[in-house]
Amino acid sequence: MGIPGASSSVTGGVAGKRVLLAEPRGYCAGVDRAVETVERALEKHGAPVYVRHEIVHNVHVVETLAKAGAIFVEETDEVPEGAIVVFSAHGVAPTVHQTAAERNLKVIDATCPLVTKVHNEAKRFARDDYDILLIGHEGHEEVVGTAGEAPDHVQLVDGPDSVDNVTIRDENKIIWLSQTTLSVDETMETVRRLRERFPTLQDPPSDDICYATQNRQVAVKAMAPECQLVIVVGSRNSSNSVRLVEVALNAGSDAGYLVDYAEDIDPAWLEGVTTVGITSGASVPELLVRGVLERLAEYGYDTVQPVTTANETLVFALPREIRPARV
Ligand code: SF4
Repeated sequence: MGIPGASSSVTGGVAGKRVLLAEPRGYCAGVDRAVETVERALEKHGAPVYVRHEIVHNVHVVETLAKAGAIFVEETDEVPEGAIVVFSAHGVAPTVHQTAAERNLKVIDATCPLVTKVHNEAKRFARDDYDILLIGHEGHEEVVGTAGEAPDHVQLVDGPDSVDNVTIRDENKIIWLSQTTLSVDETMETVRRLRERFPTLQDPPSDDICYATQNRQVAVKAMAPECQLVIVVGSRNSSNSVRLVEVALNAGSDAGYLVDYAEDIDPAWLEGVTTVGITSGASVPELLVRGVLERLAEYGYDTVQPVTTANETLVFALPREIRPARV
């Protein structure tokens, strides 16, 4: 890890102030691919490159790419005819592809393959005329994209309290799917409530909550019981980052906060705290975590102990349009 003073177990017997550093944290394979896609598009085609929506939900990443020549737009009709547009990691509905084609845009689709997997499930179960109960957060870009694959078959279930609003047509054809970045525990509670009402509810063919979301939550759960404070580096519109704060609090940390930058840390949070847990959302570059560690070291938290619950090796190939030519 290259962290000065780092030791390899939670129970290192360190007296005084310390940091527990969750591993894995930060960039997942889908974010890494999406950010590299925009960087390569800029290298290959020059600025500007248009990007529909934030490529990933992180303020620093978006600002850095904007400085390099990316122009972020809300909708494809803001992109000049014939220009290059990158679709974000969160995925888009088919109507967005249609609009882009009508405007002759050159599309580079950076949708995470694990989001595409959920889209494919939605299409498949819609073809078989299922009622699809999509567990997710209303208005989140990923949910809008997935629901757009089968608008006549998908109902959004935004947490356990929405279960009572669900209506179905045929109890033998109901399946739940989910957004990739939810809290595993809350989603399972939603499923439990759904199944109480609909015992024949079918499970997705494989987990929709992605490996990165799950792994980051498991690591936080492992360290949170020993922490008086957990700081999650991530942006407010990053679903998986916000979930990490909730998971930390539910797992036993006395307090939990989300910060974009080290400067966002309020020294008052540290009063009486001996153990601070640090993690970061799947869209957060490691340099922001380093900044937080440096700031905490200034306050005397200079012993850093990794809490490792998984090793991630997954890498996704870049979108075809931007892959380097074979030599
Ligand atoms: S959080 Fe999961 S689904 Fe989202 S981009 Fe990362 S790997 Fe893909």
